Amino acid sequence: MELNEALAKLAELQKKLYAYAAADSALYLDGTTVAPKDTAEGRGVALGVLAGERHKLFSTPKTGELLDYLWARRNELDQLHRRQTEELRRSYAQLTRIPAEEYMEYAMLTNEASDVWHRAKENSDFELFRPVLEKLVAFNIKFAGYYDSAKAPYDALLNEYERGMTMEYLDGFFSTLRERIVPLLHAIGKKEQPDDSFLRRHYPVEAQRKFSDYLMEVLGLDRAHCTIGETEHPYTLNFNNKDVRITTRYDEDNMNFSMYSVIHEGGHAKYELGIRDDVQYTCLAGGVSMGVHESQSRFYENLIGRSKPFIEAIFPKTREFFPEQLSDVTAEQFYRAVNKVQPSLIRTEADELTYCLHVMVRYEIEKQLIGGALAVKDVPETWNRLYKEYLGVDVPNDKQGCLQDSHWSGGSFGYFPSYALGSAYGAQMLKNMERDIDVWGPVARGDLSPVSAWLKEKVHQYGGLLEPADVVKNACGQFDPAVFADYLEQKYAKLYNL
Ligand code: ZN
Repeated sequence: MELNEALAKLAELQKKLYAYAAADSALYLDGTTVAPKDTAEGRGVALGVLAGERHKLFSTPKTGELLDYLWARRNELDQLHRRQTEELRRSYAQLTRIPAEEYMEYAMLTNEASDVWHRAKENSDFELFRPVLEKLVAFNIKFAGYYDSAKAPYDALLNEYERGMTMEYLDGFFSTLRERIVPLLHAIGKKEQPDDSFLRRHYPVEAQRKFSDYLMEVLGLDRAHCTIGETEHPYTLNFNNKDVRITTRYDEDNMNFSMYSVIHEGGHAKYELGIRDDVQYTCLAGGVSMGVHESQSRFYENLIGRSKPFIEAIFPKTREFFPEQLSDVTAEQFYRAVNKVQPSLIRTEADELTYCLHVMVRYEIEKQLIGGALAVKDVPETWNRLYKEYLGVDVPNDKQGCLQDSHWSGGSFGYFPSYALGSAYGAQMLKNMERDIDVWGPVARGDLSPVSAWLKEKVHQYGGLLEPADVVKNACGQFDPAVFADYLEQKYAKLYNL
């Protein structure tokens, strides 16, 4: 085989994988937005066939031979092709180590688990979910051995979401944050709370939709390449760097929910739309890791979206969309309301400060579940105990407790820490950005283009061309969670007069 011929085959393989992923995404998008209610079965059949075909295509020995051939000649490859080969070899080795029958069994299990979890959550019935969760944990421990038998199982799973991440590192990371956040929370608890009741006045969906359009404009999202839809849980879905979709959910009694969902998902979308053209339709397209992705969404959501200059910039216009609801509210009051700190039960509704504590609870539990130190039956009790310990709240039921998130039902163990890592990466990116450019002058005028340009240059453009740790280094320098803790302390000291 000639090298050119092999490279052509490599491109063809990746285009086919892209086509499968695009078909998958289109069905998912349809199913969660416009499809009639009772039509999941047919999409399930199609998705099953697609998954089988994709597995066959990728795991055939011919693919292995092609990747080995290219790897042997890696010194003759340019950076793009070398990285593609490296990434695909990693995925190939991983996929082919999992016995086909276990792979299929697991696919069926996660499919069932999602349904069982939905019912268990609705009825706040952990016992219903328990047997499925036990199987999911057992599978993940086994798969961790296939991924990397030299690593502790939970480390092998963490590596799937943030390459190189370990329990040893995260233990230190989370304890740094806990030592700084918990005293801050106690100090805030002694202070008077701002009034945020106006956020929960009646906000009609139609006005909120127009407000979303405005927010997308402020974010600089080109509507020719990014649309917004409505789903139960907001998400971002990327086909390629010219076609990204975000979704939100409108709560007529809480305008904050959709506002910050749009800004958060908009941050994910900015990342995907900012990735360079020459990695499209390859395995290097798309954001590099969950942690880096969350660093971008949470950057726009919190560091910009909950900053005073940003609120002051958009508030006059915001009031035009909601003249009755906000007529007696000032920008300052709005700023304080969207930054109100209140320990609560639900992660997705948590404020910027307590959010990491929610993540820590999940991290502790996952670590012990996969490490074998905690039995599934003891999850609710441990969950409730940790919520009391970290957040000081009593969990009234499992619906608002350990059944609230979908991650475990989808087989994701090791995902949660990415959220906290992303927040911390973002704070350090902001510090470096402030050194490089005038961030707040333009933001105060509602102009996010310098911020976006900086992020595009340091983070977005690369897609998967660099390793996650190298992207972090590029934008953060030497990563240090104390920078995030400093940011939180300074922000809330001002807000609450500490
Ligand atoms: Zn996100």
